[in-house]
Amino acid sequence: MNFSQNKPKVYFKTFGCRTNVFDTQVMMSNLKDFEVTQEEKDADVVVINSCTVTNSADSTARGYINSLKKLPKTPRVVFTGCGVWTKGETLFKEDKVDSLFGHSEKEKINELLLQEERFFQAGDLTHIDETIVEEFVGKSRAFIKIQEGCDFRCSYCIIPYVRGDARSYSEDKILEQVTTLAANGFGEFILTGTNVGSYGKKQHTSLAKLLKKMALIKGVRRIRMGSIEPIQIDDEFKELINEPFMAKHLHIALQHTSKEMLQIMNRRNKVLSDLELFEFLRDNGYALGTDFIVGHPGETEKIWKEAMENLHKFPLTHVHAFTYSKRDGTPSATMKPEIKGDIAKIRYNELTSIIEQKNYDFRRENNKTLEVLVESVKNGKYIGLDQFFNQIEIDSPVDLVGDWVFLDDYKVELEKNVARFK
Ligand code: SF4
Repeated sequence: MNFSQNKPKVYFKTFGCRTNVFDTQVMMSNLKDFEVTQEEKDADVVVINSCTVTNSADSTARGYINSLKKLPKTPRVVFTGCGVWTKGETLFKEDKVDSLFGHSEKEKINELLLQEERFFQAGDLTHIDETIVEEFVGKSRAFIKIQEGCDFRCSYCIIPYVRGDARSYSEDKILEQVTTLAANGFGEFILTGTNVGSYGKKQHTSLAKLLKKMALIKGVRRIRMGSIEPIQIDDEFKELINEPFMAKHLHIALQHTSKEMLQIMNRRNKVLSDLELFEFLRDNGYALGTDFIVGHPGETEKIWKEAMENLHKFPLTHVHAFTYSKRDGTPSATMKPEIKGDIAKIRYNELTSIIEQKNYDFRRENNKTLEVLVESVKNGKYIGLDQFFNQIEIDSPVDLVGDWVFLDDYKVELEKNVARFK
């Protein structure tokens, strides 16, 4: 590589979840002898931050690797992320990529990319990063990673095997990071990780204690939580739910609403206690989202019917629904009977239309002022999210990006709220 003139350019391709988005940011901030490019075609090096959550995620990464050969200037391809632990060895042996490194090695990215010879440095599954990220380009909300890994063993999930057991970032590091970002103008913070609610367990602290400390930092206005497990909403957390810094939306991972299915999935949550929890949060003014896997092996017609009967009772407003997709190496991958794709699709549509209706009803019945952080502008309209995690489109003669606006007068449409800012 020629270092005498301009720095070599690195293009990052990120697949998967928010945690990966964050990890890419960590890598970017550790580059010294390279510059980041947003243009694939200009790249000397392409770093693929991969996801391996399903077999099809692996295929997508493979497809992307192949597509790079078509670029006018073939870049050096370096592979990292969750896929290193599942597909890494094959990709390396087959010469599909130049080099690979695991999650634990990402802060060493600069030295690694300086190496001329090929490397495969998987690292370990116990490391925790030190990097403080200072800025999230183009975003008004900042993601803060507070922990890594998961101690649960849900049947369908490969994550614990590629990200390791749960471990938390040090409280000092997190608070330092939030302070830096708040001083740089960020007002909304989203706590993220593989299993956010397990934060602090091994250090005898808790998410609630962290939230209280974060809220004292100047500039911190609203805090959102990434996906949290029902059993992690304990009494200490419940005491905080009416604090003004808490976004009035929680994303609580149910994954299913049939008792039997939750057992098949080896989940720790139970339908009855989940329902009690959701009703409690709804009574405290919360909008509530969840993850839901449709079509997991064993999801009989009877199980599905029971799940939908239960779902109607849940005060849900948002859903991330997934149709089950096989991940080799997990217990679910060999479970029977498998659910046909067309049946899963029908169930998926049934589920999402129930939640769409619930969301619409929630927005129509809401009588609180909307507190909106405007994030972007699209087709001349300003787009933001309110405290309930609902999108609003605003017509405005002034530039609102990055601003907080308070709205009482708005129209509720089927898919979103709309308003005019005078
Ligand atoms: S809680 Fe379950 S689904 Fe989530 S990362 Fe852990 S094992 Fe996977």
